[in-house]
Amino acid sequence: MCAIVGVAGTDEASYLAYLGLHALQHRGQEGAGIASTDGEDFKCLRRPGLVTEIFQNGSLSTLKGYAAIGHTRYSTSGGDTACNLQPLTMRSRMGWVAVAHNGNLTNAKDLVDRLEKEGAIFQTTSDTEVVLHVMARCRDIPLPDAVEYAVSHIEGAFSLLVMNKDYMVAVRDPHGFRPLVVGDVGDGKAFASETVAFELMRGTFEREVQPGEMVVVDLKRKTMISKQVLKPKQPSKCVFELIYFARPDSEVFGTPVYKARKAMGRRLAQEHPAEADIVIPVPDSGVAASIGYAEELGLPFEMGLIRSHYVGRTFIQPKQSMRELGVRLKLSVVRSVIEDRRVIVVDDSLVRGTTSKKIIKLLREGGAKEVHLRVSSPPKISPCFYGIDTPTRDQLIASNQDVGGICKYIGADSLGYLSHEGLTQVVGDGYCGSCFTGEYPTLVPLTVKKR
Ligand code: AMP
Repeated sequence: MCAIVGVAGTDEASYLAYLGLHALQHRGQEGAGIASTDGEDFKCLRRPGLVTEIFQNGSLSTLKGYAAIGHTRYSTSGGDTACNLQPLTMRSRMGWVAVAHNGNLTNAKDLVDRLEKEGAIFQTTSDTEVVLHVMARCRDIPLPDAVEYAVSHIEGAFSLLVMNKDYMVAVRDPHGFRPLVVGDVGDGKAFASETVAFELMRGTFEREVQPGEMVVVDLKRKTMISKQVLKPKQPSKCVFELIYFARPDSEVFGTPVYKARKAMGRRLAQEHPAEADIVIPVPDSGVAASIGYAEELGLPFEMGLIRSHYVGRTFIQPKQSMRELGVRLKLSVVRSVIEDRRVIVVDDSLVRGTTSKKIIKLLREGGAKEVHLRVSSPPKISPCFYGIDTPTRDQLIASNQDVGGICKYIGADSLGYLSHEGLTQVVGDGYCGSCFTGEYPTLVPLTVKKR
């Protein structure tokens, strides 16, 4: 999962893009970058690390210009090597071009094979480079036409920002898997993965970029136009954005995330109540859902687990060994809250079961009398091919065991998942829940593999 941000038509473009990336840091912590242009020069800075670490010591002042695009990376394809950090840049007949991508392409491997046979040399293992190669094949045409040509060849999930010194182009795949919004900032325009980016940029959210729509900002003329370049297909907004990924203070796919999570918690409580003394969340991901859960059952909501703010998301560490230690580094129990209590603990999702197993052990060591786990999404049984880092089936605990088996493995007194039907009733139609159903809205590769 990644974040993308674009700012066009203001002199503070790279600074505002930086603020946007800062607000979207939760979407990827491996590295980040910003590319900017002043109409003559084209600069790009990308490095491993957090946004605040990368853009230090005046480095932003080197990214001059009235347009900038930025990216934070969490590798879901292409692996976590530094060469895959974005924005990716290339020089072609369109001058310097930068691209920032959120999502995974499902036909990247076929395209790479084909392009390599024709002599293309790839510098990275990221899907996104394919887009640049396809664009580079265009004859002398303006950037928006080259983007239109490229997106007609790629399949899967893409919210893309592409920029050269004349244009900034935003485009979203025809299924609308990943979010992308547009707004105003100062005299200019801004694009972002989530609306929360506009808060920090002091911008205003205007609307979503629609599935299959391309929005083009002409940087010199200061105009913006929209074109439907791909025919919309089966709407497939990623429901996991609402469950876990997006910030609760964002609005994603037109839905306030906090509200949706709370409603999931309420519905979960109706489906799987439990006799208990308190409801506690797994912070931060389970907070909104557990408030909804507690309200529905009329039980006290307490913070029985405290999260260290100096450790990043545990799952976001690509290695299992780091993830394991991460849980203990990140969470500790509040003994005075849970001791001798029957505790319901709410988390947003269960993937491998690593986190829950450790949390339940922590709660028992902290004196909890009973621990009931409630999960505000359905069992994950299938990998995601559209940009969420969901592992292969064999690593997904719910793909190999039933609820009873999982409950035993994680050591809970009881376990309840939100049903798929319940989730659909909360969020409405038009969502992709393929990780819960195994039914994909597109053709998918046989395996999900980081190249
Ligand atoms: P696990 O320990 O593998 O069962 O992972 C479950 C935990 O990871 C939950 O607390 C989720 O909040 C979080 N999580 C689930 N899916 C993802 C994802 N794709 N990326 C990052 N974190 C995730």
